[in-house]
Amino acid sequence: MSLDLTIENELDAIHSVTFDELVDYLTTIEATGKCEACGNFGWSINLKSGGKPGISEIRSLDTPDMILAFVLMCKKCGNLRTSSAKFVAKKIIESRASKS
Ligand SMILES: [Zn+2]
Repeated sequence: MSLDLTIENELDAIHSVTFDELVDYLTTIEATGKCEACGNFGWSINLKSGGKPGISEIRSLDTPDMILAFVLMCKKCGNLRTSSAKFVAKKIIESRASKS
């Protein structure tokens, strides 16, 4: 099943992602594995009020492009891992649809 997110519902989709859904997704794809910088296995995710995962933006200095991202930080060395919030939200919404 494929789902196309429009610009209008893209932000709603990203903001709908819960902490548990994000952790489940990242664990399933093994994005929470060993830190490539220090070998640690512990990661943290910033939370916003309400307990949902914080959303960061990555800006290009050369174009108006902006990428929204979920960011994991290694608890031992501070290494950052980023995932496209749009991509992850789409996968999570597809997963919700397949479960219902
Ligand atoms: Zn590390």
